[in-house]
Amino acid sequence: MNTQTSLSDRIRGCAAGAAVGDALGMPLEFGPRQPESELVREMETGRLPAGAFTDDTEMALALAESLLAHKPLDPDDLAQRFVAWYQSDPPDIGIHTASVLARIAQEEPWKEAVTAVQSTRPDSAGNGSVMRCWPVALAYYGQAQDQLVLQTLVAESRLQSRVTHPHAECQAGSAFVNVTIFHLLHGLPPAEAVARALVDAVVPNALRDVIEVAPTKSRDMLPNTGWVRHTLESAVWGLLTTSTFEEAVVAVVNLGKDADTAGTVVGALAGAAYGLSAIPQRWRDQVWGTWKGRHWLLANLISLADRLAST
Ligand SMILES: [Mg+2]
Repeated sequence: MNTQTSLSDRIRGCAAGAAVGDALGMPLEFGPRQPESELVREMETGRLPAGAFTDDTEMALALAESLLAHKPLDPDDLAQRFVAWYQSDPPDIGIHTASVLARIAQEEPWKEAVTAVQSTRPDSAGNGSVMRCWPVALAYYGQAQDQLVLQTLVAESRLQSRVTHPHAECQAGSAFVNVTIFHLLHGLPPAEAVARALVDAVVPNALRDVIEVAPTKSRDMLPNTGWVRHTLESAVWGLLTTSTFEEAVVAVVNLGKDADTAGTVVGALAGAAYGLSAIPQRWRDQVWGTWKGRHWLLANLISLADRLAST
């Protein structure tokens, strides 16, 4: 089962799945939970044209390019790439992230900028760093010395969060998502990958409780707001209560509210679990985005995944 071919398919599936979940959730963002009999299964037009990925994937691409240029991750380089993206006036950006990047754009060092913004709302723990964290998992999926790779994966997942989201649950949430991806890429069944990641990523108790209980919940118990706890709850619920990529992503984006972000997290997880070949062809054909003025398609995401995995 764990052949080179299927590992490569899962690596590609993680990147493609993240963008597909983002694009599928885009028109449902800020909306209500869809009635169970009317689940959206097609890429529809919303604030952006049908199939477009949003800031979630754009920030992931910035992180991916930073990792391709600097490994281990250089947070100063990452901050500058986020700022360059911010200054390109993206149609979509989180309020907290914009506040941090605006200060860095004024030449404030990222550590001071993020500390100043977080101090205005110390309990703020949005999902803005969890939504973009998956490239770190692809850069550190490892082939040998897995324990060492895993430690580095946890440290770098936390570091990429700190550049904009230093809250303990944002850092731990990023590490949790990426360690789950790590175990999925290596062929563990989803429930086992989640259980192992809760231990390996050292997740604080309150967040751990939410994640552990998630698969027992019904869809009307999932608020799916921009709080990192809610995003991880929805994504783990989607991964563990379904058995295909399509069902996992459809279940989560139809929760509404922060649909694109929960969609991108479950998309990355389910893509790593089931592989690119399990992502419906119609979605693979439709997903697109704009990155640095260029039109990005599935082939670009696949190429990026391959490059990250071979760094
Ligand atoms: Mg978004």
